[in-house]
Amino acid sequence: MRFEKDIVFYISNTIAEKIDTCIKLASPNEASGYILGNIQENNNNGDFNYNYYSVSFYCIESSIGSTVSFILDNDQKMLELSEHLMKNENLKLIAILHSHPVGTTPSSTDKHNMKYYHNSGLKKFAHLIWIIVDSQNKEMNGFIYLSNKLTQIKLRVSSNENLT
Ligand SMILES: [Zn+2]
Repeated sequence: MRFEKDIVFYISNTIAEKIDTCIKLASPNEASGYILGNIQENNNNGDFNYNYYSVSFYCIESSIGSTVSFILDNDQKMLELSEHLMKNENLKLIAILHSHPVGTTPSSTDKHNMKYYHNSGLKKFAHLIWIIVDSQNKEMNGFIYLSNKLTQIKLRVSSNENLT
């Protein structure tokens, strides 16, 4: 898989704890949620890099077992929710998170969904990060669809709340 070192996604310990709680609540189903925050673009003499800073996490309480079908069947709902959150908290939807029973490798359905959102024509979903958490060991990895290719990004979990 392609790796993009110029995109770094920061998850604070507070957010990591919320993700942990979300996984416990969803069990035995897989958890999912939205991460809201800010994206900072840095230009070092034409060499761009992007930092994603997570500010809050929303655990999705899905009545249906499958996270993936929830996301795919509810893009209109998701759009409304992200607009509502943006208006009320002035934050961007920067990532969709879901858990896997084992591992953090995107499934073929995940890949399909990433491509679907990337090509949806909705600008706010064009740079969305997809985070997959291993329910067992809580390991996380982040992915983005870039130039029509599935790309892994750098993900940092930090105890420092003031990363900016
Ligand atoms: Zn998945």
